[in-house]
Amino acid sequence: MDVIGRIHSIETFGAVDGPGIRFIIFFQGCPLRCLYCHNPDSWDFSQGKETTPSRMIEEILKYKSYIKTGGVTLSGGEPLMQPEFALEIIKECKKNGIHTAIDTSGFINLDNCKKVIDQVELILLDIKDIDDEDCIILTGRGNQKMKNLLSYCESIKKPVWIRHVVVPKYTMKKDKLERLYNFIKQYKCIEKVEPLDFHKIGEYKWKEIGFDYRLSGIKEPTKKDMEEVYKILKIKKG
Ligand code: SF4
Repeated sequence: MDVIGRIHSIETFGAVDGPGIRFIIFFQGCPLRCLYCHNPDSWDFSQGKETTPSRMIEEILKYKSYIKTGGVTLSGGEPLMQPEFALEIIKECKKNGIHTAIDTSGFINLDNCKKVIDQVELILLDIKDIDDEDCIILTGRGNQKMKNLLSYCESIKKPVWIRHVVVPKYTMKKDKLERLYNFIKQYKCIEKVEPLDFHKIGEYKWKEIGFDYRLSGIKEPTKKDMEEVYKILKIKKG
């Protein structure tokens, strides 16, 4: 019997969530409350729309020729909060020769998710804040589960791309970025590090839902700020 899943939305030509052009499925439901979240309407596990892996695959296959050098990314929300649904989609993609990736914060029950992580080809891991206490301020939760997931990926040699949102006054601090660099350099499974500049594009959604957007007064990082971040993280652009 087909598993029932809940999704927030899909994007058919995603270019920033993994290699190549990708079909992105945004899962509904997230345990975090990141202050900069673009999709606060994806938080509530009871919202979104019900669907099944078969229906998702049917949709994905319509775009197979466009995503042949890219693939499918499961994003969210938090896709690993629906591990069985995610697993079925990934298995079907693999049968059809389609590359798969999962974009996760790592705030998950690892034991429930190992089968999915074993199957998926790439993990896009969002390190929200390298310091546990600040991570709680930024997202409502600490970062130990993210670290557990990364250790598991290291143990099974699963390729990981790190993503890190750079927010002035929060994560855009020299000492914090140096700690992040020293942390990630220990892992051989990390293939790439992508700093992402903070944007306020989700601010209107917070207001529509009636939530208080606490980052209104924070400026988006400048090109120069981002160059400095690249330098501290020792990343060559291009
Ligand atoms: S993990 Fe993603 S979806 Fe969840 S609150 Fe943070 S930014 Fe939003």
